Amino acid sequence: MTASTTATGVAFDAQGQASDEQRRNLAMQALVRDLAATGAAQLESCVRCGQCANACHFYVTTGDPKYTPIRKLRPLEQAYHRHVGPFAPLFRLFGIVPRVTAAELEEWEQLLFDSCTMCGRCTLACPMGIDIADLVKQSRHAMFAAGLIPDRLELMDRTTKLWGSPATPSEDFADIIREAGTQFGVAMKIDEPKADYLITVAPAELTEHTKALADAAKVLNALGVKWTYHSDGFEASNIGYLNGDIALQETMTRKLIDAAIKIGAHTLVLPECGHAYGAARWEAGRWYGDKLPVRVIHMTEFLDEAVTSGRIKLKKVGQSASFHDPCQLGRRGGVIKAPRNILAALGVEVKELADAGTVGWCCGGGGGVVSNKRADPLRYRVFEMKRRQVEDAGADRFVTACGQCRITLNLGASKYKWDRKAESLLELVADNLIA
Ligand code: SF4
Ligand code: SF4
Repeated sequence: MTASTTATGVAFDAQGQASDEQRRNLAMQALVRDLAATGAAQLESCVRCGQCANACHFYVTTGDPKYTPIRKLRPLEQAYHRHVGPFAPLFRLFGIVPRVTAAELEEWEQLLFDSCTMCGRCTLACPMGIDIADLVKQSRHAMFAAGLIPDRLELMDRTTKLWGSPATPSEDFADIIREAGTQFGVAMKIDEPKADYLITVAPAELTEHTKALADAAKVLNALGVKWTYHSDGFEASNIGYLNGDIALQETMTRKLIDAAIKIGAHTLVLPECGHAYGAARWEAGRWYGDKLPVRVIHMTEFLDEAVTSGRIKLKKVGQSASFHDPCQLGRRGGVIKAPRNILAALGVEVKELADAGTVGWCCGGGGGVVSNKRADPLRYRVFEMKRRQVEDAGADRFVTACGQCRITLNLGASKYKWDRKAESLLELVADNLIA
């Protein structure tokens, strides 16, 4: 791994020993392969209206034109026009569209990984329906192929391949589950041979958020359903989905779905993690065909079902709360009502942020950005905007349903000595469960 800077002073990380020319070729092959698969019609339809710019938190909070969403796709566009588009042979023959260079790819790394959370707010704003967030994701495949991703993400890629999880060896998983049960006084289920619900986790729940493991168990026990955590399929965050490693993405998805099939589960419950939802709920079909063999739902949807069906009862907390909609859950997944139903069942008055639901601003740390130290200054700019919105809403509490959003927001709170904390919706439910 090497950390370097380009001739224009842009920092980038590189993995492996490939030459600049080899990296460039690997990236182009991956870009062209993905473009052919999607038809690339989207790139043809951009009318340069600029509406996506004001939808992007990184552009809005910095005013720097390099952070406009469409700029993040420039090498992809260049590759399309030179290699795939209808006039590609002419463009090449007359040199109208130049080759993407290794130096451009190195600069691109920051745009794709440091200044994009794949939040999809720009996608929503685009009048031509261009899914910029998805094109960024495809571009990340090319950068992974070229060995040009942030070192922290590459490290997580390696540990996941080695351990089955970015921060925790899978052989420790069962012990962590049992310890969380002992620490929080909750009966745990681990590696049950048969169960109806397979419960999965996010990496932070195996380290700093272990209460979430017990909170989920508490709710499941109260429901009286057959459930289990399972060592064969537990890690839902899917680092391959974030860093462009498509083979790892498939491996991690298959571990979850195959473990659910093995124990006969009809439902796989994803943890409070936004990108886990993007990877397993929407992308698993790539490997299993149109219909997944198990139902895949987010913890928030699971809690909503339990609450609205009356199968669990909650104490009335009172107070008011603002809800931060995790982008992958709300905007990309359409899960907007479920968290508000749960808050209503807790007797909490929802004071909406100025932008909420599908148009909610990203926390600034999704898509692997919070794990990428280099992106800290950008991330803190976004935090300041979110903080202002929370203060303006004036609620007693600030709640969300994604552990990565919580980490991002609470890192911002600690840097700026803000006396608010982003709370977990699952924890709020578990702490107020009527036994
Ligand atoms: S997906 Fe989000 S972070 Fe990425 S360019 Fe679009 S608005 Fe900006
Ligand atoms: S909003 Fe859509 S059409 Fe307009 S510049 Fe952005 S990507 Fe192009």
